[in-house]
Amino acid sequence: MASHRRPVLAANWKMNHGPTEAAAVIETFLQRHAARDDRTVIMFPPAISLAAVREHTRERTDVKLGVQNVHTAEKGAFTGEISAGMAADAGASFVLVGHSERRHLFGETDEQTAQKCARVVAAGLTPVLCVGELLEQRERGETETVVLTQLRAGVSQLAVGDVRTMLVAYEPVWAIGTGRTATPADATAVHRVIREALRERVGASALDIPILYGGSVNASNAAALLAADQVDGLLVGGASLEPVGWASICGA
Ligand code: PEP
Repeated sequence: MASHRRPVLAANWKMNHGPTEAAAVIETFLQRHAARDDRTVIMFPPAISLAAVREHTRERTDVKLGVQNVHTAEKGAFTGEISAGMAADAGASFVLVGHSERRHLFGETDEQTAQKCARVVAAGLTPVLCVGELLEQRERGETETVVLTQLRAGVSQLAVGDVRTMLVAYEPVWAIGTGRTATPADATAVHRVIREALRERVGASALDIPILYGGSVNASNAAALLAADQVDGLLVGGASLEPVGWASICGA
């Protein structure tokens, strides 16, 4: 890990923990995880639980909040959706864009991730652009092509200055929720490719863009992944749901 990038530990709760449970979980987590100025924690609860988590994290400037998805439009007749502006108003600072579940379960396209990133930035929020290949794509040797296509599309509508302040998460789809984790060396190899593509787009300041790894991270493998070259943080799904384990990952 490059020393000038402060590690980011991000929790994606997906469709788990309604407001009551979210409040209890975050409270226990905060008791177990003392504020540290050498790392940033970002919580991505379901949007409906954001207020509950916000209420409990007001005093903790080390803990930031985000939402898991927003719509491409600013507002309108899109029943069930939320906009980036609403997420900002509710206290979010970050938005996951292009998570593999959005791409593969809900059919989100590269064009939509591009529009969402632009919308997120326009609302004053920071996108965390998720990229990653399917198992069959890895087996066909297409990892680099897939990841670069998703990355280039995702940033295509952003100004250079906005790319410089965003985050990227490499999440191989075969590792998400499967218990199968990329090795630190696997992660480093893909993160290097991502870093190089970012450098082509924004120059030397690509070194400052955090690239997180995600995919079956847990308390046992977090430290090794975090120590890997080019891995600037972790995006954690299942293992972030339980507060004691999540605190242990945040202390890795
Ligand atoms: C995720 O959903 O971003 C994720 C990495 O999930 P898990 O940690 O459960 O594999």
